[in-house]
Amino acid sequence: MKRLIAIVFVCFALGTIAQNQPKLIVGIVVDQMRTDYIYRYWDRYENDGFKRLLKDGYFCKNVHYNYIPTYTGPGHASIFTGTTPMEHGIIANIWYDKNSSDNLYCVGDSTANSIGTISDQGKMSPLLMLAPTLGDAVRMSSLFKGKSIGISIKDRSAILPAGHSANAAYWMDYGSGHMITSDYYMDALPKWVSKFNASKTADKLADKGWKLTLAKELYTESTEDNTIYEKQLITGVDPVFPYDVSRAISESSYYSLACTPHGNTYLRLFAEQVLINEDLGQDESMDLLTISFSSPDMIGHMFGPQSIETEDTYLKLDLEIAQLIEALDTRVGEGNYVLFLTADHAAAPVPQYAHDNGFKVDYFNLADYKKGMDELLFSKFNIEGIISNYSNQQIFLNWELIEDNNLDQKEISSEIRKYSLGFDGVANMLDIKQLQPALPTDNFSRLAANGWNPLRSGDLLLQMLPGWMSYGKQGTTHGSSYSYDTHVPLIFYGWNIGHGENLEPIDITQIAPTISLHTNISFPDASSHKGIMLPGK
Ligand SMILES: [Zn+2]
Repeated sequence: MKRLIAIVFVCFALGTIAQNQPKLIVGIVVDQMRTDYIYRYWDRYENDGFKRLLKDGYFCKNVHYNYIPTYTGPGHASIFTGTTPMEHGIIANIWYDKNSSDNLYCVGDSTANSIGTISDQGKMSPLLMLAPTLGDAVRMSSLFKGKSIGISIKDRSAILPAGHSANAAYWMDYGSGHMITSDYYMDALPKWVSKFNASKTADKLADKGWKLTLAKELYTESTEDNTIYEKQLITGVDPVFPYDVSRAISESSYYSLACTPHGNTYLRLFAEQVLINEDLGQDESMDLLTISFSSPDMIGHMFGPQSIETEDTYLKLDLEIAQLIEALDTRVGEGNYVLFLTADHAAAPVPQYAHDNGFKVDYFNLADYKKGMDELLFSKFNIEGIISNYSNQQIFLNWELIEDNNLDQKEISSEIRKYSLGFDGVANMLDIKQLQPALPTDNFSRLAANGWNPLRSGDLLLQMLPGWMSYGKQGTTHGSSYSYDTHVPLIFYGWNIGHGENLEPIDITQIAPTISLHTNISFPDASSHKGIMLPGK
């Protein structure tokens, strides 16, 4: 009898654990979202988007990237694997491959074939990612009954989060404006995706143009509409409202649609179709849907954080998020899903704008830097080609040449460092191998060590001064260890999560273990173990 009770108890306990999960995890990434966009535009947000997430959810205000470079590929991989490039191996969007001397794209896969397009934009997979993601943990924990699906405008932002064992990842083909995939996932597009593509959603959205949501004078958190700090969406046309999006597309490609808030609307409409047609959150096995909004990044690169274009993008994104929550409530049910929202990196102010307003900021002249370096190394060592590649602020030394000619690597590194520190805009130059295994104490060295993958990374790493970048004079970018690039929002919302705020410093790699602990599944294999304590309802 005792044994029977014990068995009944064990079954009951297991039963409780199996039910002790939400039906769906929704991971939302807003590409290039800075935390301060929450506060800056607060007064003009509506009630059901960001305000609802903050009113009912848990807001971590001090979340940072804990490695460099702060780019999209590494960002998505780190959020969902719970570790840094040191272990997941996505060291940049594109990197120089030490073995083949080719450039590798983080989701490029020459063995994969496009599905849904005749272009090469579907020759992608998560092949190069060296660690599994939260999507893989959801799949493994449910004996592969729970689904993992990733969607985005950008291929890398759809593919990396969903993981190696994902059911599907969909992204936009810029030639056709269609959602596509690769044969890594399936042999043909599902009927519902073909139907979505046939509905010409991209063209219908483009026909509306890009108009401001509010009257222009209400955009008080931005500069005037036409400034010298912005790129042009259409070559030769001032960057002012309203934008003729159809013309922009006809003069380039559907990439231009993604450079407007319509890219967010397009993705939200597609997300609703995924929910309906893939039956996410409808059975006993918990599913994962990752939605990465790419357009805020493309718009940020073009116009910068100070622009009306960026402000209008976030006011419109707020409405998309409200509609997404409504769709989740209708399809999966309020309280049946857990949602988190974060960003893959933030962004620097436009350097010229900062410079013109008194910041000690300027542009890093990469061409002069490389030219001077080559001249110096030739004059010192009387041999050409000591550096085989400079990319992502990393210098790759030509080891074969160095060994064949008996050159002293330490002396070379020391010359490179001396030269670099004398160059305008440089803050530091690390000989990265010297960091191993010493524990770095300064922020740059700590982030550099976390971003350094022994199989893939370069030998020396350059740090520019705060605010500096190698970039055109309009728009902005990201990638540094400074807070304007590392500081991102993080909100947890939904199933068993109460309201609250957290001001403690949190690393981006803590999201995956937090979701694992909250939903009672295993951690992604290489994940950090430092989950965040979430308040209950
Ligand atoms: Zn970017």
